[in-house]
Amino acid sequence: MKELRDKGFKLDNSYSKLSDIFFTVQTPSKVPSPKLVALNYSLINSLGLDSKFLQSNEGVEFLAGNKILDKSTIIAQAYAGHQFGHFTMLGDGRAVLIGEHISPKGERVDIQLKGSGRTPYSRGGDGKAALGPMLREYIISEAMNSFGIPTTRSLAVVTTGESIIRESYLKGAVLTRIASSHIRVGTFEFAARFGNIHELKELTDYTINRHYPNIINEENRYLLFLQNVIKKQAELIAKWQLAGFIHGVMNTDNMTISGETIDYGPCAFMDVYDPKTVFSSIDVQGRYSYENQPKLAAWNLARFAETLVPLIHENQDEAIEMAQNSVLEFENIYKKNWLSGMRSKLGIFNEETEDERLIENLLNMMHKYGADYTNTFSSLTLDKKDDIAMFSTSEFSKWNKLWEDRLTRQPETKESVKQLMQNSNPYIIPRNHRVEEALTAASKNDDYGVMDRLLDALSKPFAYSKEQYEYSTLPEPSNNKYRTFCGT
Ligand code: AMP
Ligand code: MG
Repeated sequence: MKELRDKGFKLDNSYSKLSDIFFTVQTPSKVPSPKLVALNYSLINSLGLDSKFLQSNEGVEFLAGNKILDKSTIIAQAYAGHQFGHFTMLGDGRAVLIGEHISPKGERVDIQLKGSGRTPYSRGGDGKAALGPMLREYIISEAMNSFGIPTTRSLAVVTTGESIIRESYLKGAVLTRIASSHIRVGTFEFAARFGNIHELKELTDYTINRHYPNIINEENRYLLFLQNVIKKQAELIAKWQLAGFIHGVMNTDNMTISGETIDYGPCAFMDVYDPKTVFSSIDVQGRYSYENQPKLAAWNLARFAETLVPLIHENQDEAIEMAQNSVLEFENIYKKNWLSGMRSKLGIFNEETEDERLIENLLNMMHKYGADYTNTFSSLTLDKKDDIAMFSTSEFSKWNKLWEDRLTRQPETKESVKQLMQNSNPYIIPRNHRVEEALTAASKNDDYGVMDRLLDALSKPFAYSKEQYEYSTLPEPSNNKYRTFCGT
């Protein structure tokens, strides 16, 4: 095969220089007739890539895995993980890493093709992906990015011209995913379980160098590394909770070391506020419900901490104690971030101890009256207290009085309060019925206009513009009973 030269990519393959156990060299499967259906121009620009190339026939062949770049060592990464509490060997079963691209700002990002065929880690799977779930990942990951929530990004989706077999025949597709890396808690579980101490140390040093370079020369860098990852994850999960985002499958292989959200399988945004909300059809016990996300993140981080025990201190008892104490800190860091985010959602700049109670009372009331999570906050932002049933209750009037009094106990003007609220409360989220509508139009009718309009609205979630109004309305009736499925 004639290989493609450069094409705007500044490729490096540092991960493939690690020991052999961490990956397998793997060529993506050929597909019959690739067609470009989504391309992310703003991401292309920020990465310094060539949009003309990516739109060209050769570019589309590249995005489908049919053509490869001459400097790339393509690999499938090995990892393990706890899935719903049980340890399993996993790995990239339907994805390959094309390489790392160095952006004009000097940032290193992974370029991964997802849905690119079988690998040695595929187990029983076909290595393929269906169009619907890949577009879903594209829409939701880009929305998360617009909300300011750390996330992997979506560069492109191509259909492959293949039918893949799920419950029925579906259109096959490949998503190009960009991530600051794909190193997961599960990668460390893999190293700790199947590697020797040198390999564990090699992966850890590599990851510190890539994601936390400021601690590389510290004597206790392994403990600091653990603490840094815990902090990043606590900040991330607080952002999820504040946005009403439910990941749905927080297995340890779906938790990154960089602190980016990854793996948009059964995720969805909550509409009616209910802490027990679960969307994923496979999460029968509600393990990954909205209210459980912080607890489960801490559980995952405990699994991560265990992998680092051999490196943290030569005395293993001391190492365990240090690791445990670090994991215990998750709750405090998470809580601090959540409280500060909630204050901003309510336009509160300074801190009072009673704030937490004010927030809890609002949330409890929202739960009791079945209020929409996003719209409650956007209506409070707009001072439009007539469109939600809860607003006409005497309970709300009492709460509202306390809130208004609270806002007078800070020097900021009404204008600044409104600005803070507007920047903290999205007007538009990827509502489940809107996402479904876009996916149906695209996969059933080849109509990508519905998705493009949705993506456009989602790219400015804090604009509060009139044209966005239609995306802020709820389905009738509420679809908290909505079910999502893993995109396998
Ligand atoms: P996920 O549910 O996407 O986090 O995937 C869990 C594991 O299953 C990972 O090792 C995936 O690579 C693998 N996997 C998911 N879908 C497929 C598929 N269609 N073929 C092969 N492996 C898959
Ligand atoms: Mg996964």
